[in-house]
This record gives sequence, C-alpha cells and structure tokens, in this order.
Amino acid sequence: MEFGANFILQRKESHDRTGKGEISVPPIIDPEKCTGCGSCVDDCPSEVLTLKGDKVNVINPDECMDCGVCIDACSFDAITIS
Ligand code: SF4
Ligand code: SF4
Repeated sequence: MEFGANFILQRKESHDRTGKGEISVPPIIDPEKCTGCGSCVDDCPSEVLTLKGDKVNVINPDECMDCGVCIDACSFDAITIS
C-alpha cells in the first residue's frame, strides 16, 4: 500500500464529514491487544502516539492525518480507525 500525499489526502477527505478538510480521525487502541511494542509510535509521521508504560496512548489526536501507517505497523491488530 502506498502512503503518498494523494493517498493521505484521499483518506482524509473520505472522513471529512464537514467538507472543510478539518476532520481528523485519531486511531483507537485496543489495550487488550496492544503489547507495547512501539512500532506504531515509531512509524507515525505526526507524533500522534506515545508509549505510556506498556500501552499506547493517543496524545495528539488533532495531528492525525488518518494515513493508516500505524494500522499497518501493528502486528497485533490493536489499532482501528473508524
Ligand atoms: S493514522 Fe497516521 S498520523 Fe494518525 S496516528 Fe496513525 S500513523 Fe499517525
Ligand atoms: S504497534 Fe500495536 S502492539 Fe505495538 S505498541 Fe502499537 S498498538 Fe501496541
């Protein structure tokens, strides 16, 4: 899967319910599945995620570009974006 600028823009527009391009859709972390491996934190281009103990927290939800990189980075199927 490609994560170029057009792809990210398409993903963002697909979730832009207001038509203003301002909607971000931060990821949802399933704490039961998250092992704290940190892959999503390392790969996120916008520093949306951080490790707190052995779980991931969403610290900058407004910075999420809805690119899906974190979903692909997670081998434990712990991340979803609605
Ligand atoms: S969707 Fe992209 S920008 Fe948002 S948290 Fe995941 S990797 Fe970061
Ligand atoms: S990649 Fe998945 S298992 Fe690893 S820290 Fe992120 S959410 Fe948790």
